[in-house]
Amino acid sequence: MNTNFDPRRHAPAPQEFAGRVVMVTGAGSGIGRAVALSLAQAGAQVILLGRTVKKLEAVHAEIGKLGAPEASIVPLDLEKALAADYEAVAAAIEQRYGRLDGLLHNAALLGTLTPIEQYEVPLFMRVMHVNVTAAFVLTQYLLPLLKKSGDAAVLFTSSGVGARGRAYWGAYSVSKFALEGLTQVLAPELESTSNVRVNIIDPGKVRTAMRRAAYPSEDQQTLPTPESLTAPYLALLGPASKGITGQRFLAQG
Ligand code: NDP
Repeated sequence: MNTNFDPRRHAPAPQEFAGRVVMVTGAGSGIGRAVALSLAQAGAQVILLGRTVKKLEAVHAEIGKLGAPEASIVPLDLEKALAADYEAVAAAIEQRYGRLDGLLHNAALLGTLTPIEQYEVPLFMRVMHVNVTAAFVLTQYLLPLLKKSGDAAVLFTSSGVGARGRAYWGAYSVSKFALEGLTQVLAPELESTSNVRVNIIDPGKVRTAMRRAAYPSEDQQTLPTPESLTAPYLALLGPASKGITGQRFLAQG
């Protein structure tokens, strides 16, 4: 394995993703939207998954204006999706593309910044469900399609509080630790039996709605934009990271 691989140094080549099919969850806003646009610009056929159809349609239209391969929209609320919904998503991808080459688990709920002692149980469960359980289930349903790719990448999204817990970050922090665990469990299971690699990225501080919700008094203008941080995502979702699996990476810093 290449231990010098650093996705922050990646310079995406034009058409690096030509012929690749990549799904992005939470593709309607923030980091997901920016990565989806960069993937399309690099030639990928992007599958935009999210819960707010209007936002997905706007990203779909932006991709159209780039002259990039047409994207598809998958409306799915990860909080409410049931087995039949996941089955339908997998069947639609199978029918349209026949395989999947990349899967970015980006959608997440922040929940609230509250002491564990007072954290509301239903909210804790919602955050764990969207951030962890839904990512696990979606991966499970899409694995047969990922295995049909000659070179597939699954990328989970962590956070600074997924590597080191911090007071008051509650379910969000716990959920990101769980995704770190899921990466460490799944990567070696697939390493010797498939062409599917599994890694996790910590984006760092990024100027998005979620960051604003967590730090309402922060000057957003001091933060990097999602658009400025897409290269490491492309590195980990595409051919540049072939052979790299089970690792945690930083998008900045
Ligand atoms: P945003 O809030 O902008 O984006 C989150 C996305 O997740 C939205 O598109 C949202 O959809 C989607 N989403 C939330 N709940 C559901 C659901 N139930 N079903 C489907 N989609 C859902 O935040 P960011 O872009 O900042 O976050 C992207 C990722 O990066 C997250 O995993 C986050 O934890 C992580 N991260 C971000 C940091 C930052 O500084 N911004 C720092 C560390 C990690 P909708 O728009 O419809 O609500």
